[in-house]
Order: sequence, then structure tokens, then C-alpha cells
Amino acid sequence: MYLSKDIIKEGHPNLTKKSKPVKLPVSKEDKEIGLNLLKYCVVSQNKELNELYNLRPGVGLSAVQVNVLKRMFAIHLEDLDGKMYSFIIVNPLITFKSKEMIYLNGGEGCLSIDRKTEGLTPRYKTIKVKGHVYDSKLDKFLLKEMTLTGLPSIVFQHEYDHLEGILFIDKLYESLPEAKPLIETTT
Ligand code: ZN
Repeated sequence: MYLSKDIIKEGHPNLTKKSKPVKLPVSKEDKEIGLNLLKYCVVSQNKELNELYNLRPGVGLSAVQVNVLKRMFAIHLEDLDGKMYSFIIVNPLITFKSKEMIYLNGGEGCLSIDRKTEGLTPRYKTIKVKGHVYDSKLDKFLLKEMTLTGLPSIVFQHEYDHLEGILFIDKLYESLPEAKPLIETTT
């Protein structure tokens, strides 16, 4: 399993490089990388285990963040309706982007950025994506299409940006009048 020391941080030259496509079919080594990316997300969100291993909680981790320049990442999160999104995706593509934009209230965070940041990052509210997703029952990566809205869409775009060498700190705005906050707050 990856530990905090394995995650490369802001300033590391590879974080701003474009990752290379993963060779298909996915090799055993690449599958292991994917499984370990997902494991980090799962374990880091468990209070006892993240204290034990000293892991900062994360809902997504891309291969480049453990210094592997391959187009692959894992996501493990529950959206606001309690639906679970937990997957490893290889060679992801975004095939549709909604006109509507959203942002995460309070701004985004990143396991590769250890400082406090201020600002909002615009994301497409809904995206359609395609890629090879790991199926644990079949122990295989299968081409799959998904439609993501809200939180999973934001996280997917954050991780996808990593594969392009883009960090959320490259997209920080003081206000986004055209976009809506993910969580509407009423006063
Ligand atoms: Zn990140």
C-alpha cells in the first residue's frame, strides 16, 4: 500500500507532466498500481487506520501522484445522496461536458498540495466518461461508460487534470458568478 512518503508534492517536476496511456490489456503490474491507489483512498478514509498509518484522507488518487506517469486513477467516495463511487479507471476519456458549471464549496484539496489554498475551481456539473474500469469479480478491466454529476464529477475532473499535468491550484478563482456551489446554502 502507498504511504504518505510515496506521494509526490507540489514542486515535483512530474506533477506537471502529461501521463502516458496504459498499455492494454492492463498488465499485472499496472493492475497492482491501480489496486494500491484505490486502497490508499479506502484506508485513508478509515479513522483508525489513517491514524495508524498517518495518512491524509483522500477521495481520489492518480498514478502520477505516486510518481507513475500512467493514465490511471482511483476514486472512492460517497456522493451527497449516499451513493458510493469506488473504482479504478485506466485511460479515461471525458466524452461530454455539461454547460452548467459547479464548484466545491470552500475549494478543493489535493494530497500533493500540503498548504492551505484560497479560491474556487470551476468544474462541469455533469460529465460522461469512458475508460477501462476494474471489475473485481472478473479480475479484469472492462470498457465502461458512466455519467457523473455533482461531487463524483468534480473529483473525476480533478483526477483527470492530474493526468494532463494540471493541478487545481492552476485553476483558482476568487468568485465564479457563472457557476453554482455544489451545496446550496440558504440563509
Ligand atoms: Zn489532486
